[in-house]
Amino acid sequence: MTMIGDNLQLVRARIVTACTAAGRDPASVHLLAVSKTFAAEAVREAHTAGQRAFGENYIQEGVAKIEALADLRADLEWHCIGPMQSNKTRQVAEHFDWVHSVDRLKIAQRLSEQRPGGMPPLQLCLQVNISGEASKSGLAPGELAEVARTVAALPRVRLRGLMAIPEPADTLDAQRAPHRALRELMASLNARGLALDTLSIGMSADLEAAVSEGATLLRIGSAIFGARPSFTPATAPAAPVA
Ligand SMILES: *Cc1c(COP(=O)(O)O)cnc(C)c1O
Repeated sequence: MTMIGDNLQLVRARIVTACTAAGRDPASVHLLAVSKTFAAEAVREAHTAGQRAFGENYIQEGVAKIEALADLRADLEWHCIGPMQSNKTRQVAEHFDWVHSVDRLKIAQRLSEQRPGGMPPLQLCLQVNISGEASKSGLAPGELAEVARTVAALPRVRLRGLMAIPEPADTLDAQRAPHRALRELMASLNARGLALDTLSIGMSADLEAAVSEGATLLRIGSAIFGARPSFTPATAPAAPVA
């Protein structure tokens, strides 16, 4: 068994343990392997170990990987989980199966217009800025209902649920609070007539809290593929030479 295969087994075991503790059926929780910054060969290795759904943050990198793994395309599900400029929506609409990071109506409208007719509807989640951080993308909870109603009526996309990236917290209780808030937002949208079934929350560090609050889709990167090189924005000054 490879390292990625071993890690996948450990993550699956964590999910089963968390589901047991929460009295949930493990089949109700889907695992998305976040492969950003890792090579196509790492995805191939995870696929060999039984993983089918993969998440990418950067459009260019994700499309290159999807194309490099074209031989597996019918057996893989590709999820776009990163923020996108509107000039990138066509590439996303033409290559991905899901988008979790829809943070404004215009993006959803463009994805619907640009989704090719021969493909199934693009599956969407609306990203919510659940911790209210100024630096984070996502819809404010107060604007969600109106946007959700409009997106749900678009023809070439299907609104499936909500996604959030909560502020990191150390204790289980602190981790649970934003996850619970997202679950309650989804319940209130469903009470107003929508039929959302996907709560995309939970990452490597907080999957237990997410499962306990009803997550149906966990986005797990480092616990499967290992630590990522730390991200340096292209505009950052070069690090001083030691
Ligand atoms: C990178 C990333 C993840 C995975 O994070 P890990 O802590 O490595 O599990 C999940 N969701 C989003 C949106 C990400 O950008």
